[in-house]
Amino acid sequence: MSMNHGKTLATLSVHAGLTPNEHRAVVTPIYQTSTFSFDSADQGAALFKGEEEGYIYSRMGNPTVQGLEDAIAALEGGHKSLACGSGMAAIHSALATLLSAGDHLICSDAVYGPTCSLVENVLTRMGIENTIVDTSNLAAVKKAMRPNTKVIFVETPGNPTLVVTDIAAVAEIAHTGGAQLIVDNTFMTPILQQPFRHGADVVVHSLTKFLNGHADVVGGVIVAKDEASYKQFRTALNHFGGVLPPFESFLVHRGIKTLALRMQRHCESGMKVAKFIEAHKAVEWVRYPGLESHPQHELAARQMSGFSALISFGLYGGLEAGKQLMDSVSLWTLAVSLGGVESLIQHPARMTHASMGAEARQRGGITDGLVRISVGIEDVDELIEDLDRALSRYKASMPAGVATSAV
Ligand code: PLP
Repeated sequence: MSMNHGKTLATLSVHAGLTPNEHRAVVTPIYQTSTFSFDSADQGAALFKGEEEGYIYSRMGNPTVQGLEDAIAALEGGHKSLACGSGMAAIHSALATLLSAGDHLICSDAVYGPTCSLVENVLTRMGIENTIVDTSNLAAVKKAMRPNTKVIFVETPGNPTLVVTDIAAVAEIAHTGGAQLIVDNTFMTPILQQPFRHGADVVVHSLTKFLNGHADVVGGVIVAKDEASYKQFRTALNHFGGVLPPFESFLVHRGIKTLALRMQRHCESGMKVAKFIEAHKAVEWVRYPGLESHPQHELAARQMSGFSALISFGLYGGLEAGKQLMDSVSLWTLAVSLGGVESLIQHPARMTHASMGAEARQRGGITDGLVRISVGIEDVDELIEDLDRALSRYKASMPAGVATSAV
């Protein structure tokens, strides 16, 4: 397992971010307070001027939140991080901090639906131009660069097509053109992919997913590579205001303590389920970066240290068969989101990526029949049995001569 600050990520998951506290509690306590008192009027003024270090007001910083922020920065090999109220708050805050009217942004075509809508429908109203491209196609990224390009935003693997972008190559294109590269690392977590090592300038996450891992918090984070970048984001976030509260920060930090362990299980089970799906006769196609059939398997194996738990596939029966599958499984929960301990199944075209619109989905290769699953940490054989039972009902939707089950 890779190391940051001389420690393995498994060890950092458990220990990073313990804020010193007066009773020497081994877990950062919940400082459920909106404000912090000053010793004197002069000390309050010194804190505001930045001449003294300390907490002022919880929108500007809070020890519980900072414990989480320190843990994530350590795991990502970044400088410092900023916990936000959701993954979208992190993405919006990062983009709105780095871009001004007249700037140009390049964004992957296969991203979380609302990220695409934010770029195409909201940032455009603020005078920010965009080009949406398949960022796995380096020639297309180069071609999209303009003199006013300030940011390239990449989600890799992309949601939900699992297209893999070469972070180092795109970072080079960005830097050559004077732009910064932001990587959404939600699908991988720092355990499996370390974008800063490949040249990324900013990393964002939805904490709602693997980092928290227990489907009980909505949160996000921006990780900055150096103090100048951190200060820029901190000042902006203080004005945007979308910070993560202390209790949610405590829960996410607790989730992170088992992150390395959970990711190991997610990867093992993800591979088993992907192989099962690939071999099933009802399945027309499958995408999982760990399978040799994935078009960028070699890049994925180089850039990532595991393949995580997201799998996309299409059935021969198309949309109708996919809908029936989602309605027939019992152990898999039909719900959006991903990365939790429980296995989820959903239909991006009508759920997570509905807001993009049909044209944008087509551009990003998000077909109507695409089913996305997130493999949890339940017993993997029981998960496969449940899928097999549900898939076996679609004899009618399979091509003539194809057996109901391949296994
Ligand atoms: N990035 C990715 C890759 C996601 O899948 C999601 C949500 O599904 C987000 C960002 C947005 O996160 P949140 O729902 O916490 O706002």
